[in-house]
Amino acid sequence: MNKRGTILIVDDERFNITVLKDLLDPEYDTMVAKNGKQALSRIASADLPDLILLDIMMPEMNGYEVCEHLKSDPLTANIPVIFISALSQVGDESKGLSLGAIDYISKPFTPELVLLRVKNHMKFKQMSDRFRDMATLDGLTGIANRRRFDLFLEQEWGRSMRAQSPLSLILMDIDYFKPFNDNYGHALGDECLQEVAKAFTSAMTRKTDLIARYGGEEFVSVLPETATEGAVLFGEKLRRAVSDLKFPHAHSGVVDHVTISLGATTMVPSKELKCEEMILLADKKLYQAKEQGRNRLVY
Ligand code: GH3
Ligand code: MG
Ligand code: MG
Repeated sequence: MNKRGTILIVDDERFNITVLKDLLDPEYDTMVAKNGKQALSRIASADLPDLILLDIMMPEMNGYEVCEHLKSDPLTANIPVIFISALSQVGDESKGLSLGAIDYISKPFTPELVLLRVKNHMKFKQMSDRFRDMATLDGLTGIANRRRFDLFLEQEWGRSMRAQSPLSLILMDIDYFKPFNDNYGHALGDECLQEVAKAFTSAMTRKTDLIARYGGEEFVSVLPETATEGAVLFGEKLRRAVSDLKFPHAHSGVVDHVTISLGATTMVPSKELKCEEMILLADKKLYQAKEQGRNRLVY
């Protein structure tokens, strides 16, 4: 993540783009789009910008439409939009603000004031991002926390029920982690948890999957639109990723390094089922994996 923050400038006039870019480049990373359509495709293809400066009168798709589009998608709804427009009637400004824009600047604009306003909004954006991270990420490992998992599972459960598509869930637990802590100390235990989380993250390929810290030395993965075979393949990839760390563990009852056991379940959600049952079932499978000798996946 870059600390400067990224601003997307959307305007159909080259001159305006040049002025805004010169103004913002010393402080922020900037991206440019020359019309509404291009703005949306830039946002879809690159990392999300932290703020958008949006012209209103543009060919093909005007700024109002772009703003409406962004605010209706949960993924982009939180990006602050500032309209910069030659339309200067009260009605234009109130339309812009009522569409969810955070500010409205009239053209011709005063560059210093644009920069000051942008700085203020960027400060708020970065603060709210930090609060969101604190609420959804695990403090030790930096991956999703239990709260994020609960919300994600509920949302994906609903989505899979409507689509009647399979949803998979994998519970993972580090083997012999108590003896690890007892022998190597809590600090190395924490480091081990961080390494395991990193291994999980680098094993992920689909943006739609989630891996979270479930609690203590337990992790959980939710895989939308994934049937049993896919879940088993992915679980096996996670198991191998941890084993390949070769994180030394002389007090493990399995091998001489840290390993995990996994319990996987797949369901096509229906009204008769509850997502809690999925967790219970995965937990049973995890227990069986432990019983059968650990460092393995049971489904
Ligand atoms: P099994 O192979 O059956 O999973 O045995 P285990 O020893 O891993 O299982 P148990 O549940 O008895 O031990 C979990 C241990 O995990 C307890 C505690 O020492 C450790 N632990 C839990 N959370 C943390 C944490 O945040 N940091 C550290 N360092 N250790 C933790
Ligand atoms: Mg224009
Ligand atoms: Mg354990």
